[in-house]
Amino acid sequence: MARYDYDLFTIGAGSGGVRASRMSASYGARVAVAEERRLGGTCVNVGCIPKKLMVYASHYAEDFEDAAAYGWTVGPCSFDWGTLIANKDREIARLNGIYRNILESNGVQIFEDRATIVDPHTVEVGGRRITAEHILVATGGWPRMPEHSGSEHAISSNEIFALERRPKRILIVGGGYIAVEFAGILHGMGSKVTQVYRGPLFLRGFDDDCRTTLAEEMRKKEIDLRFDSTVASIEKTAGGLVATLDDGSALEVDQILCAIGRVPLTKGLGLEKAGVKLGKGGAIEVDEFGASSVPSIHAIGDVTDRISLTPVAIHEGMCLAATLFDGRPTSPDHEDVASAVFSQPSIGSVGLTEEQARERYGDVEVYRSKFRALKHTLTGRGEQTMMKLVVDSASDRVVGVHMVGPDAGEIIQGIAIAVKCKATKAQFDATIGIHPTAAEEFVTMREPVSAE
Ligand code: NDP
Repeated sequence: MARYDYDLFTIGAGSGGVRASRMSASYGARVAVAEERRLGGTCVNVGCIPKKLMVYASHYAEDFEDAAAYGWTVGPCSFDWGTLIANKDREIARLNGIYRNILESNGVQIFEDRATIVDPHTVEVGGRRITAEHILVATGGWPRMPEHSGSEHAISSNEIFALERRPKRILIVGGGYIAVEFAGILHGMGSKVTQVYRGPLFLRGFDDDCRTTLAEEMRKKEIDLRFDSTVASIEKTAGGLVATLDDGSALEVDQILCAIGRVPLTKGLGLEKAGVKLGKGGAIEVDEFGASSVPSIHAIGDVTDRISLTPVAIHEGMCLAATLFDGRPTSPDHEDVASAVFSQPSIGSVGLTEEQARERYGDVEVYRSKFRALKHTLTGRGEQTMMKLVVDSASDRVVGVHMVGPDAGEIIQGIAIAVKCKATKAQFDATIGIHPTAAEEFVTMREPVSAE
């Protein structure tokens, strides 16, 4: 008889947990997974997927305007929040079903309940104790909320997807992915958007040219960006919510969305009692193979607070399954992970920023192009596209590629393969462009910009 009830017990059926569970099951492991909320986790329910659908929805405002230059007469248009939310909810329910199917068809037992860790080989779920040779914590993260007076009146990205009405005036606090994405979404839908960020320029960590270009474009749309600014307090009034900023000014809005980062969801899981070492902000510390300080307890995804992106969690899940159940110890590769910010215009990025490249390699060449996309020669829209290559002079290797403009994520996904393959600038130059596209600019930039 088997020593444990399961070979693997996964806590959290988000992107990472589901992938690790089903891959482990496909290698012959007996697997169970517990989920206290909805299958699919943050990405499917209150993250990437509904967010991207909302980006599509909001972009129609500009598309309808632009259509006129191409000869179209678009009648009076209006946007109905309720229709979008209902359609989005239907799609997400479909995806929840797909996740269920993936698990069940691979023979993974699902517990729709909260699970906690009792000891290195035991979990408690729904009042039952279950043993497993390995426990995987894939519980993800949770929005961080401020603690100033009135902060209870603000919402997080968990609530924004289910609001009954579109806020006509919204204050967005934060300068990361979520804040800039929702600033664009709500602006496109017709809301008056103010975004407050505590530093001098949002999207810290991204290439400076992307940050400044996006700020310029958002300001052109009349999104009110306030940098070096923080919210001191919030008060509920008859007219809505009044936020007082640190400079003493007050702002009345209908909703306040706080997007000031996410914290690893480790509280109350029994990790400390089981001896699992937690790092900064409660993240689970893991070794190169995903094992915590307790060898039978592993962790992947946002709960480890390394690169908090869905495809990274999935990759970590596949590596862990290969390590534990396919005899192939595999450590995740976190180098050159491309990402996109679905702001409007969007950002796509892979590799090092110019600043990081200068620090690592010293002598770098930078190629940059800023132009108006062909589409807008007729529409007259002043939106600029920015593309940038960062090249290590000594090796000629392209070590960073950055873009702001339409479909940046789609374009950078392809470029990311070249960067991963350590392509040189000469190889970029030897690639013949596809004309007319914006992306061809990446293979036609010949003159480096002079050092600034
Ligand atoms: P981010 O980590 O991207 O950004 C957090 C922002 O909040 C930063 O601007 C940060 O400022 C600011 N901040 C942090 N603490 C405070 C505080 N106490 N008071 C005021 N401001 C504060 O977090 P998000 O919430 O936007 O997103 C969470 C994560 O989800 C992202 O890191 C990303 O990994 C993932 N995500 C990815 C998306 C994508 O791939 N397109 C989309 C959405 C989310 P500072 O820079 O000064 O520290």
